[in-house]
Amino acid sequence: MGSLQKNINPRDAVIPGQLIDRTYLRVNTFFDKALVAYISFARPFCNELSTLLAKACEIHSTVHRNGTMLVIEGPAFSTSAESRLYQQWGGDVIGMTVLPEAKLAREAEMCYSSLSLVTDNDAWLETDEVNVNTILSHLKSNACKAKSIIADLIPRLNIPRTCECQNALRDTIMTNTNSIDPSEYIRLKSIISKYSSDNNK
Ligand SMILES: [Zn+2]
Repeated sequence: MGSLQKNINPRDAVIPGQLIDRTYLRVNTFFDKALVAYISFARPFCNELSTLLAKACEIHSTVHRNGTMLVIEGPAFSTSAESRLYQQWGGDVIGMTVLPEAKLAREAEMCYSSLSLVTDNDAWLETDEVNVNTILSHLKSNACKAKSIIADLIPRLNIPRTCECQNALRDTIMTNTNSIDPSEYIRLKSIISKYSSDNNK
């Protein structure tokens, strides 16, 4: 993950609160065929999960919360002009993952959060061109750190789920689920069955 801000350094952890989608080659919805549903994505990450993740992170790293993550298609690093543009857009970190995962997780009513560990300063810092060897060194350190953070996070997840992620599809399905093709219903059954009438179950 690349930093777009001076105060976010390599090996810091960022738990973003917002996303800007610059991907264009990825299937980003389960509802692209017979069934139409519009989920709310104004707050793309689960706040409860992000809070637990932040607590686990604080033990191991400097943590920045609620930043904006820019997701580019890649695979490539930004040009300097793009990097500076993304700064003007309010980006804090930049990477090539998290989308469409965050959106698909919301559609599937799963809690989703991101642990982003910084490896470089992207391309906005004129004196610090992206260097693969330096990035790999930070990446190796971050991988060890991520394992420790996840080990601390897992026991914290053993609590009742109270967030709204579990109801993300409620009142969002525009199509009558009784009228869709049976094969399409079967494809989506694990996601939509609780909102369907008994006719399809
Ligand atoms: Zn949640």
